[in-house]
Amino acid sequence: MPMMIEKEKQTIDSCRFCWMCRHVCPIGNVTGRERNNARARALTLSVVLRGAAELSEDIVANVYECAMCGACVKECVTGWDPLNFTRAVKADAAVAGVTPPYITRLIENNLETGNPYGIKNICDELAEKLPEMEKMSGTLLFLGTDARFKCAGKALKAAELINKSGEPFAVLKDEPDSGYMMDFLLGKIDETSSIMKKAAEVLNRYETVICYDPADAKIFMREYKEWGIDIRPVIKTFTAYIAGLVRTGALKPVRQKRAFVFQDPAHLSRDLEETEEARFILNACGETYEMLLNGKDTMWAGNLIMKEYMPDVIKRTALERWKNAMSTGADVLVTASPSEYQVLSMVRDEAISATGGREMGLESIEETVLKSLR
Ligand code: SF4
Ligand code: SF4
Repeated sequence: MPMMIEKEKQTIDSCRFCWMCRHVCPIGNVTGRERNNARARALTLSVVLRGAAELSEDIVANVYECAMCGACVKECVTGWDPLNFTRAVKADAAVAGVTPPYITRLIENNLETGNPYGIKNICDELAEKLPEMEKMSGTLLFLGTDARFKCAGKALKAAELINKSGEPFAVLKDEPDSGYMMDFLLGKIDETSSIMKKAAEVLNRYETVICYDPADAKIFMREYKEWGIDIRPVIKTFTAYIAGLVRTGALKPVRQKRAFVFQDPAHLSRDLEETEEARFILNACGETYEMLLNGKDTMWAGNLIMKEYMPDVIKRTALERWKNAMSTGADVLVTASPSEYQVLSMVRDEAISATGGREMGLESIEETVLKSLR
């Protein structure tokens, strides 16, 4: 496996003897399968590293079953990071030609259409509004792949909320791909780097970039630096930007008699260590409850890209999160990730009937603020 460096080999050797993080894995918890935790994955890969087996499509398929949510990394008291070898194996598999065909399809889609779903055009409602939002401003609202191609309604709500503050901003009609999807699908390879460089050229025309999707914020704030890609604007998460507007009084939500519970996106709370901004926003709109595993300990609810090849598992990760949210007694589950919103929304009715029909709403954080504005 040529993409493996010494650190990744050492991680494999450490994880293969260890069980200590298996209880925090959102995938392993719903499948109940040993293969879905860091230890089992490392054990299989160590056999390949020792030359006792070839890197095969089945071994690689198992690597793609990892959500890259970072819960195991956060839990690891000895400081190992299994995501490093997970990424390296994806790159090695592509070189060796053993990437599973359903992943190759997503990669080809992404290269052809700018999104792994192979959708040729963004939705009509968003396409109609984009020309008027593509104005001159030093601030860019970066919507991201999932918002543009899968949940344009949420993207429009995000823009509507910033508009209410009177702050000028632009949205790009031809927004570049941040590279997040390719980083997830293939890890560190030249194609990912060249997508990132193209995006950086566009972003560098702005002073501030507000990332609607925490996945893009994480890529811009962490991975670009690591890949040596020059990105000059101030990158802000959408939640931090909105919290700032509430603090300055540019947005004035009024506290309602509503109780919220927040689903921390793993990229926001663990990768970027941002946990308080969303809570500050929600406390300005009503009461905030906490569910089991919140903040940096959050349990990932699922995402759209993995729904493409493991729909049943993603349905179960989302149902698990509904269960945690409903046990708090809050009225509304609030998300700050377009992808998580979509998967939670997909199973909401089932979650409600599974818990005896107790109603609970689902809102994206911009919807919650919009409902609370004077
Ligand atoms: S990440 Fe840490 S806790 Fe998890 S298997 Fe590896 S060494 Fe063990
Ligand atoms: S990153 Fe998340 S999904 Fe992957 S092994 Fe760790 S806890 Fe499980």
